[in-house]
Amino acid sequence: MREQEALKYLKTAIEFYEKRVPGHEGKGEKALLELLISLEAIKDDWWEHYCESNGGSLMSFQKVNECDWCGKRNEDR
Ligand SMILES: [Zn+2]
Repeated sequence: MREQEALKYLKTAIEFYEKRVPGHEGKGEKALLELLISLEAIKDDWWEHYCESNGGSLMSFQKVNECDWCGKRNEDR
């Protein structure tokens, strides 16, 4: 049931995209797939850790940046 709903939303998103972007009729599915892949790539570009300098909160940073609170880097984990 949940999958059916998700598919319905995806279909709507594809139709919306194809209506909005001229000349992209029939390309909505590919565009959506590329979007999902790039979102996944962005997610992979982040690291997180439980920062003791910030009361043990889960902090999230881009991999190129160190923690604002304690200065730890992704490589130090
Ligand atoms: Zn930290």
